[in-house]
Amino acid sequence: MKSRDLFSDAMHLMPGGVSSPVRAIKPYPFYTSYASGSHLFTVDGKKLIDCCLAYGPMILGHGHPQIQKAIATQLKNGWLYGTPIPIEPKFARLITNDHPSIDMIRFVSSGSEATMAALRLARGFTGKKDIVKIEGGFHGAHDAVLVKAGSGATTLGVPDSAGVLADVVAHTRQVPFNDPESLETLLANNNDVAALIIEPILGNIGPILPEKNYLKEVRSITRSHEVLLIFDEVITGYRLGIGGAQVKFGINPDLTTLGKIIGGGLPIGAFGGKKEIMEQVAPSGPVYQAGTFSGNPLSLTAGFATLQWLHHHPKMYVKLDEMSRMIEDAVTDRGNGSFVRLGSMFKYFFRNKPPRNYSEVKECDTGIFNQFWMRMLKRGIFLPPSQFETNFLSVVHSKQDTETIAWAYQSCL
Ligand SMILES: *Cc1c(COP(=O)(O)O)cnc(C)c1O
Repeated sequence: MKSRDLFSDAMHLMPGGVSSPVRAIKPYPFYTSYASGSHLFTVDGKKLIDCCLAYGPMILGHGHPQIQKAIATQLKNGWLYGTPIPIEPKFARLITNDHPSIDMIRFVSSGSEATMAALRLARGFTGKKDIVKIEGGFHGAHDAVLVKAGSGATTLGVPDSAGVLADVVAHTRQVPFNDPESLETLLANNNDVAALIIEPILGNIGPILPEKNYLKEVRSITRSHEVLLIFDEVITGYRLGIGGAQVKFGINPDLTTLGKIIGGGLPIGAFGGKKEIMEQVAPSGPVYQAGTFSGNPLSLTAGFATLQWLHHHPKMYVKLDEMSRMIEDAVTDRGNGSFVRLGSMFKYFFRNKPPRNYSEVKECDTGIFNQFWMRMLKRGIFLPPSQFETNFLSVVHSKQDTETIAWAYQSCL
C-alpha cells in the first residue's frame, strides 16, 4: 500500500491518523518501510536523507551493526524479567562518570516520565510547591508542563491542553529564555519554588542557543534562592558531546533528565543527580516512582552499546561539528532567514535574526517554512516537518550526504 492509502485508513482509526502529533504531515505523511544508515526508504519507493533522526535519538544512524548485534544477543536471552539485570549498574556507572553532577540515577521508559518524576522529586525534597519552566521549553506531555507560553511569571499558569486542570498548572510559572532578570525577579518574589526546569539549548522550538553566561547566571540565581536546577538534557545528552550541555558549558545542575540517545533508538528515559536528593526516591526514600518497563533490558542494551560506541569514537563529535559547519557555510547568507547551529543541532529560521526566545521564534514565517520543507523533501531531504523542531546529523551521514543537503538548501532558499 502507498502512503496516501495507509494514511486514509489510519485517519479513521487513529486520532489525526498518527501516534504522535508532529507526524501528521499535510496532506499526508510518508510511511517508512525501512531505514539504513543515513537514509529512510518509504513505501512509495523514495530514498530520503534523514535529518530528523526520529527527533534526535538515532545519533549512530539507522540499523547500526553494533547496536543490532547487541540487541540480537539480548533477544536470545529474553527481553523482560521484572528483576534487576547486570547491565544496570554498569550503565549507571557510565552515565554518572560522564556527568559530574550525577551521583545516582533511575531508569524509566520515556523522557516525559523522567521530567515528571524529577519534578515530583524536587517538590518532595524541598517541600515547596511551585515549579518554574522556560516559555517554549518542552519537557514531555504531562500536566504540570503543558502550560501556555506567554502566560508570564507573575500570573498563574494557563493550561495549554484541554483536560489539564487550571489548579494543577497554577503551580507552574514561566520565564523567557535568555532573561536572567525575569528569573531573579520571580524567585525574589516567590519563596515557594521547588525547581526550575530548563532545556540548556531550547531544542523543541530551536535550537535556540543560550547567550554568553546565561546558564551560569541561571545556576547562581537558582542557588542563591535555594531552588533546585533541573537540566532537561533529553535532547542534548550525548548529542553535544559526552556529558551533554552541562559539561560543555561547565554547569552543575542539581538534577538532570536524559532520554532519546541513551536508549540507542529504543524507549528510555532517566533522571539523576546529587545523592542526597536521589536518595529521596522510593524505595530508599518517600518520593514514589515505579514502572513495569523501567530498566528495560533491550533499551538498556541498545543504549549502553550506543554510549560505548561514542566513548570509543570521541572524534566523532568533531566530525559531526565539521559536517554541520559545512552545511552552515553553504547556507549562511542565503535567503532572508537565519541559520542557527550548535554541534550537530541546526535549523534555518524564517526570521531575519536568530531567535533568542519563544516570542521571537514565533515571529518565523511558518507558511514559507512549510513550502520550503516540501521542496527539500522533493530533493530527497527529510527535515523535521516543523519550523520549531531541531535538525540533526548522525555519525553515518557521509560527506556526500552533507554536500547533497547543502545543495538542496541552496536551491530551496
Ligand atoms: C523529547 C523530549 C522530552 C520527552 O521525551 P519522550 O521520550 O518523548 O517522552 C522531554 N524533554 C525534552 C527536552 C525532549 O526533547
